[in-house]
Amino acid sequence: MATDTDPDTQLIENYQPFFREDLLKDKVALITGGATGIGFTIAEVFMRHGCDTIIASRKIEKLQKAAKALEAGTGRKCLTVVMDVRKPQEVIQGVEKMMSEFGKIDILVNNAAGNFLCPASSLSFNAFKTVIEIDTMGTFNVTKAVYDKAMQEKGGVIINISATLHYKGTALQTHAASAKAAIDAMTKVMAVEWGPQGIRINCIAPGPIDNTEGVRRLAGPLADQIKDIIPLRRMGTREDMGNCALYLASGASSYVTGSVIVADGGRWLIEGQLASKL
Ligand code: NAP
Repeated sequence: MATDTDPDTQLIENYQPFFREDLLKDKVALITGGATGIGFTIAEVFMRHGCDTIIASRKIEKLQKAAKALEAGTGRKCLTVVMDVRKPQEVIQGVEKMMSEFGKIDILVNNAAGNFLCPASSLSFNAFKTVIEIDTMGTFNVTKAVYDKAMQEKGGVIINISATLHYKGTALQTHAASAKAAIDAMTKVMAVEWGPQGIRINCIAPGPIDNTEGVRRLAGPLADQIKDIIPLRRMGTREDMGNCALYLASGASSYVTGSVIVADGGRWLIEGQLASKL
């Protein structure tokens, strides 16, 4: 059911569930960056499976618009929390607000990120720092606050949204590749340390995902040609990412922790990347 022309808050048309529709019944999930793109659709897919959600990012207007669309499309509750993942005090206060509203957070999706194309030679000190602060430190800040206030005692599931940029030398992506490599490392260490407390933590590494800010910004006019260099011959969809996150959030993956699920149609296995833009 498409109810909106804004690509960020478009609901999935004719969603066909692969899993039981009560798979996440009465769970509560926090999705950072959940007002737009991949995060929005992960929230939608979770809500279509009985989950209430919290979407958190910096801009209240975007959050409120997204929450309204999500609640109308799924019948579940969506709380909005304004917080900058770079700021630990804001994150702690945000998580306290979530806990006072729901009393628990079962699932955390660290999806918030920032990116742009830039060769290392032109990358300013501040630009590199900003991406590390949003992606890597933001993921740590939110994970730590949710661990302390919600998951330490009760366990839970954490899903970090990574990328495949650091598997090879993706040109123009020093900052994002470095940030996502650190997120993969964090995921493995936390999986080991927190496994005994009933916390599973995994990553999804998306390839190019259609109808997202990521592809609009990074692929631009090359977007149409991308499918030719993907073994599955299509870009991923936000729904693909939602279903992947649903698997990791649910008991269907109960013995999976410390893993990275690469969901890129086989893209990273192919040589030749953005070299034409050098
Ligand atoms: P997007 O729509 O631009 O989403 C990023 C979200 O993060 C926005 O809602 C933004 O909201 C939020 N955000 C940014 N900085 C923040 C901060 N400091 N504090 C809190 N929230 C912040 O991006 P997307 O393309 O859907 O990508 C989502 C995730 O998938 C990212 O982790 C990205 O690296 C990963 N990924 C995407 C692709 C792709 O093809 N799109 C490929 C590989 C990996 P505000 O600006 O309102 O704060």
